[in-house]
Amino acid sequence: MSKIRMILNWGASCGGCDVSILDVGRPVLDLPNDAEILYWPVALDFKRRDLETLADGSVDIGIINGAVRTSEQEEEAKIFRAKCKSVVAYGSCACFGGIPGLANQFVREDVMARAYREAPSNVNEEGAVPLTESKMKGYSLLLPEFSEEVRPLEDIIKVDRFVPGCPPSTETIIEFIGSLGPIARGEAGKRIFASDRSLCYDCPREKNKAAKRVEKLYRPHEIIAGSDRCLLDQGIVCLGFATRGGCGARCIGVNMPCRGCYGRLPSMVDPGAEAISALASIAGDWEDNMPPAKIFDVLDAVKDAVGTFYSFSLPSAIINRKRG
Ligand code: SF4
Ligand code: SF4
Ligand code: SF4
Repeated sequence: MSKIRMILNWGASCGGCDVSILDVGRPVLDLPNDAEILYWPVALDFKRRDLETLADGSVDIGIINGAVRTSEQEEEAKIFRAKCKSVVAYGSCACFGGIPGLANQFVREDVMARAYREAPSNVNEEGAVPLTESKMKGYSLLLPEFSEEVRPLEDIIKVDRFVPGCPPSTETIIEFIGSLGPIARGEAGKRIFASDRSLCYDCPREKNKAAKRVEKLYRPHEIIAGSDRCLLDQGIVCLGFATRGGCGARCIGVNMPCRGCYGRLPSMVDPGAEAISALASIAGDWEDNMPPAKIFDVLDAVKDAVGTFYSFSLPSAIINRKRG
């Protein structure tokens, strides 16, 4: 049987997704028995020409982690689409825009100014920022263009499969690696490697079945949460109810609330907006007993609304970036 022809690349990424693949151990070590890796520059010495010389449609599976921020990342995503029969968005950055997508709260010039001029650790007396073309000693240096916004992969090319998670859990990765053969053979398989039900279904904590009210909200560092009861019932903002299951409730298991890295439920358009709405409806005592202003006091405990409700999904949200 011929081997699965694969290519992998990263975009606007922290590198954790690549590490997560290597971290799986045995299944990755066995991969070369079944797969031929034709391009994976972060792990092996491949160059762009190695990618470009592959014939269109000749690669079975292309895996991209990281969001899309630069013209180079956009270009490579399009090349992947041309070369591959199936393209996989791997990790929350590729699937929804992820943590780098939080930069969409700022316009491009502000990101550049902060990174190159204002950050206290910078020494940059000329106030220089990277340019797409710089000339020096008769040479011309070209850099990719830094786009106006961070985008999820699907905004650029058609994506066939999604492996969410920041990074995906080991169980999710093992399931995905086990599916590479069927995907390469074009057999229908999972499109999204996560559950269709919310994380709350996987969460072992005791839930309050009665109508819920939360009289006070706590930030995770302000309280030592009980380990048996739903975190939301204890006043800690947990987005499990708006997030797909499939991660094994990793954060919940170590007493931390879910921040939504497995992405939105199939029925939800904007999980952050749904979570804000749900929280507003349970914050405070019953309206009869509490003036509306008090409800705002409860919600005031959420100090960073975008970071809390859109940690992994801002570029996929309805309001997805600041405009200049
Ligand atoms: S999904 Fe998480 S681990 Fe993967 S590249 Fe993005 S930030 Fe890093
Ligand atoms: S809201 Fe969080 S803690 Fe509560 S049941 Fe859902 S996942 Fe578990
Ligand atoms: S609990 Fe939530 S944030 Fe944590 S790994 Fe699971 S989906 Fe991601």
